[in-house]
Amino acid sequence: MLTEKLDLPLLKRQVLAALEIPVWQLRKVETGVAKATPTTLPGEPTRVPEVNQVQAVGQLNWQQLRQRVAECQSCELHAQRTQTVFGVGSESADWLIIGEAPGQEEDLRGEPFVGRAGQLLDNMLRAINLTRNQIYIANVIKCRPPGNRDPLAAERVACNDYLLRQIALLQPKIIIVVGRVAAHALLSTDESVGKLRGRELSFGENEIPVVVTYHPAYLLRAPLEKMKVWDDLCFARERYNKRLAEG
Ligand code: URA
Repeated sequence: MLTEKLDLPLLKRQVLAALEIPVWQLRKVETGVAKATPTTLPGEPTRVPEVNQVQAVGQLNWQQLRQRVAECQSCELHAQRTQTVFGVGSESADWLIIGEAPGQEEDLRGEPFVGRAGQLLDNMLRAINLTRNQIYIANVIKCRPPGNRDPLAAERVACNDYLLRQIALLQPKIIIVVGRVAAHALLSTDESVGKLRGRELSFGENEIPVVVTYHPAYLLRAPLEKMKVWDDLCFARERYNKRLAEG
């Protein structure tokens, strides 16, 4: 307390003491400025907000989210990355493509699907009249797993909120999921891509249509499967058109 007894004349002090009236005054602080305590209006909560409180990922805007991801050290993958790979494309795109995790080239360039698999992805999208600036591309995992191994459960958990926030901010009209890892992460299933293809799946409370297809890296190894991917992309177009028509 910044208070001390007043130096009053003896008689007055005796009278006040007899009446049990304590007399206090503000003590001068060294800077000459009395410290203020926070004042609140009637009815206002008295809790003082913590300056360093971390904002929940679910409340971040695009720029804040990008920054949060760039600084993320929530799992061991941060130690070996060149940089995080946040995502790329139009923030008002109707189409969201979700892949697995950055590979070596993506880690170096900071952009998803820029390697050989990325070129094939571009060709796949061109086949249904889509270019990169009409879509948004993101990965489940934002840092490169060493040797391109499958992401570990802890790594998926650490990154999960980032992808969910990207979806919430984008509000796409359709999501194309490429490959097993992304399908399992988004749809919380362990069914194979072969079983998930061609089904009317959806995501979240807005029931965003989801189409699952093979990963372009797999198509590089198994080119005969490209016909199936063509079917999946046509199916995606149909579902997108239907979604548009529903409004
Ligand atoms: N494979 C993916 O799943 N994502 C990339 O960004 C690159 C390769």
